[in-house]
Amino acid sequence: MLVFALRLVRPYWPRLVIVVTAMLIGTAMSLASPWPLKIVLDSVFDARPMPSALAWALGPNTSRMALLNVAAGATVVIALVQALASYVSAYFTVSVGQWIAHDLRQSVYGHLQRLSLSYHDRQQTGPLISTITDDINAVQDFASTAVLDIVIDSLTVVGMLAVMFTLNWRFTLVALAVTPLLGVFAYRLRAVIRQATRDVRRRQSEIVSIVQEGLGAIRVVKAFAQGAFERQRLEAKSRESVDAALYARRVRSLLGPVVTSLVAVGTAAVLWFGARQVVAGTMTAGSLVVFLTYLGRLFGPVQSLARTSTNVAQAAIGLERVRAVLDADARLPRAAQPHRLEHVDGRVEFEHVTFGYDPGRPVLHDVSFAAAPGEMIGVVGPSGSGKSTVAALIARFYDPGEGSVRVDGWDVRQVTIRSLRGHIAFVLQETQLFHAPVWQNIAYGKPDATRDEIVAAAELAQAHDFIEALPDGYDTIVGQGGVPLSGGQRQRLGIARAMIREAPILIMDEPTSGLDAESERLVFEGLARLSEGRTTFVIAHHLATVRDADCILVLDAGRIVERGTHDELAARGGLYADLLATQTRTEPAEVRVLTRGGSAGDQNQRRVRPQ
Ligand code: ATP
Repeated sequence: MLVFALRLVRPYWPRLVIVVTAMLIGTAMSLASPWPLKIVLDSVFDARPMPSALAWALGPNTSRMALLNVAAGATVVIALVQALASYVSAYFTVSVGQWIAHDLRQSVYGHLQRLSLSYHDRQQTGPLISTITDDINAVQDFASTAVLDIVIDSLTVVGMLAVMFTLNWRFTLVALAVTPLLGVFAYRLRAVIRQATRDVRRRQSEIVSIVQEGLGAIRVVKAFAQGAFERQRLEAKSRESVDAALYARRVRSLLGPVVTSLVAVGTAAVLWFGARQVVAGTMTAGSLVVFLTYLGRLFGPVQSLARTSTNVAQAAIGLERVRAVLDADARLPRAAQPHRLEHVDGRVEFEHVTFGYDPGRPVLHDVSFAAAPGEMIGVVGPSGSGKSTVAALIARFYDPGEGSVRVDGWDVRQVTIRSLRGHIAFVLQETQLFHAPVWQNIAYGKPDATRDEIVAAAELAQAHDFIEALPDGYDTIVGQGGVPLSGGQRQRLGIARAMIREAPILIMDEPTSGLDAESERLVFEGLARLSEGRTTFVIAHHLATVRDADCILVLDAGRIVERGTHDELAARGGLYADLLATQTRTEPAEVRVLTRGGSAGDQNQRRVRPQ
């Protein structure tokens, strides 16, 4: 953990040099600050000889009033230099803290983006959000404030002890007699505080999870009128978090009173011995005051060092959680020298592919097929039969357990993921929009697209007219918190996004489910144009949608049980024919067929009776 922390700090060493210099100056000033008082007490009031360094600097015959002036002036100078040093060290430590937090956020989020989907399938989003915000903030707070305090306090303690030993080592030993007790106590408490802090952080991230889930699924919550249940869920977790935080606080709070009591014992002992020596005339009152001032200033930092153990624990737990994310190694294996796909014709082949999300439980068994460039392949089958999984393997969201997936003859494991996915476009059941202008949402498929390309894609996707009618046209902010769009409008933006990508391979996963007839008509028109000339996989619930496909794969429980054209399969009397018969009974009289070629119009808007 220390090595990790040092690695984080390393790029900022010039700032740290400034910080440490300023701190050293500040500490020196703090050490010097009681001396003017001692000089006034001993050499101005009592006419004792001034300290030899001062006598050397000012000359032995300096008058008492001149000495008073020097003492008063020195008080101001010491305070000013100390203030400046404290300003410089405070600013630069905060800046180091902020930049460390920035670096951590970048690397954690970057790492999360690189991790494969199988990691994200298993991971709740809440704790990850909480790591990027709260855990990193704890590290930043620590680096910005606690580190400063700890360094200043430690320097002060060491400096004070050195001076005190020089002044009067016996008194110093008397005063320090209590510190071993303090050390043992603080050490024992440390482990308890750490565990309690870990508990608090876990519960806080559970709260983020609940809020994130509840607000993310607010429509479902409302639809099922489960607002009260969600509130209770949060309340229960929030109570647990309060309990954990209070327990942690109780444990930590023990430290303050114990330190204060031990300090009082040490101070009383010095006062008792010192006063007797002053009365006996073996020590001046000024020396005792200086010693007691040092003692007071020694225990202050000791107390605050004990208090900062909390920040240390929080930062350590924060770093521990950040490390856990950074150490997660769920990236897809990289080929030694991956090939960059430049031009892709669009041939897609599965060779004996067996795959399971959990290695022991395959959801696809020995799947083989080949799609020639430009072909339309329908993928149908009962729910859960593995249709979406086939699509996920083409884009290498996961690697097959056995067999291989090939694009233009290249095993997808041998090509760079970026170049592979750069040649694939998706239109999914629901299009996710980002909180950004419409044009940017479309350009997500091709970030360097020009305005003309964006408009052209929107026109082909039947989206241009409705976009123009939005309050700010292409600049209208959509997505969460933006102008709401209907399901059909979102899908057409999804088609425009896929269109602009100009990818030779297109995957459509039930892109028209849940749309009304008119939206469906417009979306189909967009899809028909989009799929032209591309190898297109259409995962469809309505069998009739893919009746014009060059080949239909019928999946059942992860196996391809039939394949062929619609007419062949309908005539065969197998699963496809069964599904067709069921749909004929339960579906509307006419179903739209996805047919490619030609412009908008009757050709790709054919409606047929399901059978
Ligand atoms: P539907 O028509 O309902 O969308 P599908 O035919 O597309 O279903 P898949 O989504 O491919 O089916 O799912 C196939 C099997 O894999 C199912 O048993 C499902 O529970 C499982 N599965 C799907 N996604 C995951 C995942 N991310 N992690 C674990 N199991 C999954």
